[in-house]
Amino acid sequence: MIASAAAAPTAEEAAAARGRLAAMMERGGALAWGVADADAFDEAPEGFRPGDLLPGARRVVVVGGSPPRAADWASPVHEHLETMGTSDRINSLGLKTAKFIEAEFGYYALFVPPGVRRGNRPFLSVALAAELAGCGSRSLAGPVLHPEYGLLFYSAIITTYPFPVTPPLAEPACPAPACVEMWEAEGETPCTRVCPLGDGGCLDGRIEDGRLVERRYDAARCTSRVYTHWIPGFQKGLELALDQDDAEARKMVLYSSHFTKTLWSMTYAAQSQGQCWECMRVCPVGAEFRDKA
Ligand code: SF4
Ligand code: SF4
Repeated sequence: MIASAAAAPTAEEAAAARGRLAAMMERGGALAWGVADADAFDEAPEGFRPGDLLPGARRVVVVGGSPPRAADWASPVHEHLETMGTSDRINSLGLKTAKFIEAEFGYYALFVPPGVRRGNRPFLSVALAAELAGCGSRSLAGPVLHPEYGLLFYSAIITTYPFPVTPPLAEPACPAPACVEMWEAEGETPCTRVCPLGDGGCLDGRIEDGRLVERRYDAARCTSRVYTHWIPGFQKGLELALDQDDAEARKMVLYSSHFTKTLWSMTYAAQSQGQCWECMRVCPVGAEFRDKA
């Protein structure tokens, strides 16, 4: 049975509940977790805040992990990361977390599904939730970076249970000290050097007093490189096939290795597909975690 507001836990009970929840998520493979206040999502548009998805929402639990493994980064075969994905594992842990909260504490827990709701906008910005919950901070390159692991995938669960909140990071993970040094010496960072906005790339920014104070990003150009395969690749391929009047030409599109690879990539990842990530490959945050012998 789901508890009513009258059965609100004491602060001690809520702290103990968060400890049990954290232990469950870590056993399930979480590398990071946090709890954001559901009322802190002011920068999200109306209709896309926790309370819009779950009436009475109090908290957003965020669980992070399942990044590409070190060997995935090391492989010189670009089709490897283009085909496989690791984000699904964080979604199954997110679903398990929602089930745990409802079963153990008797409060509503809504898993935020990957994918888009309306206007190509996600149900809830999981990146914002991860930042508010202190799992990481937004970076010049875009992704929320965890201070130790760098790029992680995240899943969010909206709940009516009042777990104690974990605060946002006091010190942002980006820019890394090495990036500040590089900026001061050369006016660029590893990610802006590999993908410079002014020279056919997507990223630019400004660092002042060791802090990122401006970020410029060509989302359209990045999307055209990041989404060659997977769901957008499928949409493009299908459109091309439907445009063919000739049956043989249609077959050539549908049975091509590009279209087949796109279907394989969709079976691997519900959330994201690593089709570029050159900006992350050179990022010092999490570099130790990506390097093996
Ligand atoms: S994912 Fe690729 S195209 Fe997009 S910003 Fe990073 S390096 Fe540039
Ligand atoms: S390389 Fe990483 S840490 Fe450095 S500025 Fe770019 S995103 Fe930030």
